[in-house]
Amino acid sequence: MLNLVLFGPPGAGKGTQSAKIIDTFGLIHLSTGDMLRAEKASGSELGERVKSIIAEGKLVSDEIVIEMISKRLDQHADANGFIFDGFPRTIPQAEALDTLLAEKGTAISGMISLVVPDEELVVRLVKRGIDSGRADDNEETISKRIIEYNEKTLPVESYYQSQNKLHRVEGVGSIEEIGQNIASVLNELNK
Ligand code: ATP
Ligand code: MG
Repeated sequence: MLNLVLFGPPGAGKGTQSAKIIDTFGLIHLSTGDMLRAEKASGSELGERVKSIIAEGKLVSDEIVIEMISKRLDQHADANGFIFDGFPRTIPQAEALDTLLAEKGTAISGMISLVVPDEELVVRLVKRGIDSGRADDNEETISKRIIEYNEKTLPVESYYQSQNKLHRVEGVGSIEEIGQNIASVLNELNK
């Protein structure tokens, strides 16, 4: 199996690049952000609970996202592999993911960390807020998300680095160029 963690700050381009990778490598895309937005849109009880947390730029609880991921892993027991996008975002999430995969006799193959400077992130996210109307893509929430990222999520990069699984990829450039750089890392991991 090829199991990839696609990592990076808010607005790094994880969703955009995931779409390209699933086509090329036949992987299942698991984005906790997309799942939470779907819960919100469906008006489920869970959606109602996470709404205000997302609007404040905070992380939802580890318990909620780990449960969502665990369910998806079971649903796709016969997959070639997974791309985890926006997950794990905390050390407990990373540990839980390792445990879940180990139970299935597999493991994370590698992490790709997209490197993008903060100024560029803010420009991209403000634009996305205007284009798509995503409520958390406004300047105030964006700065809170970046703070939350630096505090709670950045340590996850070191977690994979200590397992020798970290691959940093420049996240500024054309979507195609970045995609090619990711693909060359994946080709190595897939050997
Ligand atoms: P990108 O633009 O690179 O796709 P993003 O940070 O804009 O990333 P999402 O990954 O879609 O956005 O996440 C949106 C929000 O959903 C987060 O700010 C957070 O509140 C919540 N969220 C998503 N994934 C997690 C997670 N693994 N743990 C906790 N909260 C999460
Ligand atoms: Mg996303």
